[in-house]
Amino acid sequence: MARVHVLPEVLAHKIAAGEIVERPASAVKELVENSLDADARRVVVEVQDGGRKRICVRDDGIGMSREDAQTAFQHHATSKIATFEDLTAIRTLGFRGEALPSIASVSRLRLRTVDREKAGDGSNPGTEIVYEGGVLRDVRDVAWHQGTEITVEELFFNVPARRKFLKSEPTELSHVTRQVMHYALAYPDVEFELTHQGRSLIQAVRAQTFAERVYQIFGDQFLQNLAEVDLTREGIRVHGLTSLPHEQRTNASHQFLFVNRRVIKDRVLNHAVRQAYQDLLPPTVYPVTLLFVEIEPGEVDVNVHPCKTEIRFRDSSRVHSAIYHGIEEALLRHRVSLRSLSRPLSATQLESPYPNPDAGGPDSAAALVGAPSGGHSGQGYPGFQLRSFNQPGLMYQPAGSDNRTVADLLYSTPAKGRDQVDPHGDNSIPETIHISGTPLVLGQFVESFIVVTERDSVLLIDQHVAHERILYDRALRSMGEPDGTATQRLLIPAIQRLEPRQAAVFEHVRDQLNENGFEVEWFGDNTIVVKGIPAMAGNCDAGLLLSGILDDFTANEELGGSRSGGIQRFREKLAINMACRAAIKINTPLTVDKMHWIVDTLLRSENPYTCPHGRPILLRLGIEEILRGFKRI
Ligand code: ADP
Ligand code: MG
Repeated sequence: MARVHVLPEVLAHKIAAGEIVERPASAVKELVENSLDADARRVVVEVQDGGRKRICVRDDGIGMSREDAQTAFQHHATSKIATFEDLTAIRTLGFRGEALPSIASVSRLRLRTVDREKAGDGSNPGTEIVYEGGVLRDVRDVAWHQGTEITVEELFFNVPARRKFLKSEPTELSHVTRQVMHYALAYPDVEFELTHQGRSLIQAVRAQTFAERVYQIFGDQFLQNLAEVDLTREGIRVHGLTSLPHEQRTNASHQFLFVNRRVIKDRVLNHAVRQAYQDLLPPTVYPVTLLFVEIEPGEVDVNVHPCKTEIRFRDSSRVHSAIYHGIEEALLRHRVSLRSLSRPLSATQLESPYPNPDAGGPDSAAALVGAPSGGHSGQGYPGFQLRSFNQPGLMYQPAGSDNRTVADLLYSTPAKGRDQVDPHGDNSIPETIHISGTPLVLGQFVESFIVVTERDSVLLIDQHVAHERILYDRALRSMGEPDGTATQRLLIPAIQRLEPRQAAVFEHVRDQLNENGFEVEWFGDNTIVVKGIPAMAGNCDAGLLLSGILDDFTANEELGGSRSGGIQRFREKLAINMACRAAIKINTPLTVDKMHWIVDTLLRSENPYTCPHGRPILLRLGIEEILRGFKRI
């Protein structure tokens, strides 16, 4: 018997379907794309159980005749391209003629449609078609007055291996929500609705402008820190919105990239965004970007992957540079130079001859905190106000701190105790150089960094991230204790509007939140009311705290997970968010006592070097570097 044989058709189709329909969100994507290609002005998506149980997509588009509707379930049946030339310049979202048969082969599917041209003349009733696991079950007349509706039930009911790999309800729902959000953003002139189990997650009427659509999806706070991008370069237009550097997200969940209104994943494009922000944002934080690339269809190949989310550019460096410069130009209009933030101060930089203090070059103190270079001096880097060094009135030196080091010998200056420092003395530089085993707080730089000398180095401590680390450790510790999650009730409950994906996960994490010190419940579709927050969150903005936590969950790989591991991760997320919101901000003057408390507590922490997000807490300038800088060694 021959070993090589052709697979039965049904099996082959199931295999092909696996490439296109990976999860409920991919079915939603294909169906919504079909509606948009069919010129719909309104697209309604309803899902149950995160789409695992039921997905329904309804539109008011051109619909299909009985004949077309039946043909549409054939493999490679499409109305969108006819010749090879068409394939080289695709203007529709679909073109492969694979989605409907694929979805039909792995679910129970019902289509109802009517041809727009024939609708209403009484002669042509609508068509209903039912498929089950790729087998045609029924074709019949149905009273249907407009557009097309496709209902997909029990996705993968006949592919148990696939069904097993579906994630939890909130995870799948989060993916579905993201897909619908994407298309809602790309097509502001189309009305979108998404509901889950009857609860509305997206409700966006037809909008006149992109900004209006962004407002509908994300709310008004969202637009505040965004700059408008619009640049055309070498035939490529990049437009949309991008965030100013002080808008910092701890995950990439607010990065949306489109090419010819198609949602795509592309390393080159992501890299361009990353690079544009490289000197403005620490490596572990992400900007908010909603960017549309418009390019001649002939310049891109979308026929790379069955999902059509990967594309190939004829010249990707041009696209890269259009995005980079688009962002650069938008930020420059807001007076942010992409190269304004300095690298860590190092001995080599110290060595550069005659740094010009007015130029604000990379060597200047101003550059260290990201002051804008050149013409913008005095303006201040967004988020920072340059103020002078805030030296404590009284030098604080802890007791028992005269264990002297090698460096003492180099300087051979006698160490003095605190009593010998005259707080009211003249402004001359104190003769004492304090070098000791215990950190000595010298003061505060630009009301944002604490300057400390230690045994053999000078430390610059970012007061915000330092405090964040301290609060994070404390929050995690106390959440482990039996009565560690005391609630502080708010005098005035906070009403917070949620973004669609936040609303999608809120339902799932509500109980856990309430078990961990929150008092929070639904207030209406997409809004929640916060009546209490954990006592340890201090007096931070309750609404923002919650939306931050929910954002973290939407960006999360898998929600739910194993119960115990899940709880630990849940608590870590809570702790990170509470710490970040409650920590003292930069540009805040601190008393000596506070500075000392921060330094002391921080240095006792298990990890005083990085904050829970992975950002550095302190910069250290060692005695060796200093001596080398002064050409003493
Ligand atoms: P493709 O979108 O690649 O053409 P599909 O399998 O997704 O392939 O759809 C097959 C055909 O069915 C489409 O080309 C289109 O003519 C028709 N069709 C699918 N969905 C709709 C819809 N919602 N409204 C009108 N026609 C549709
Ligand atoms: Mg399609």
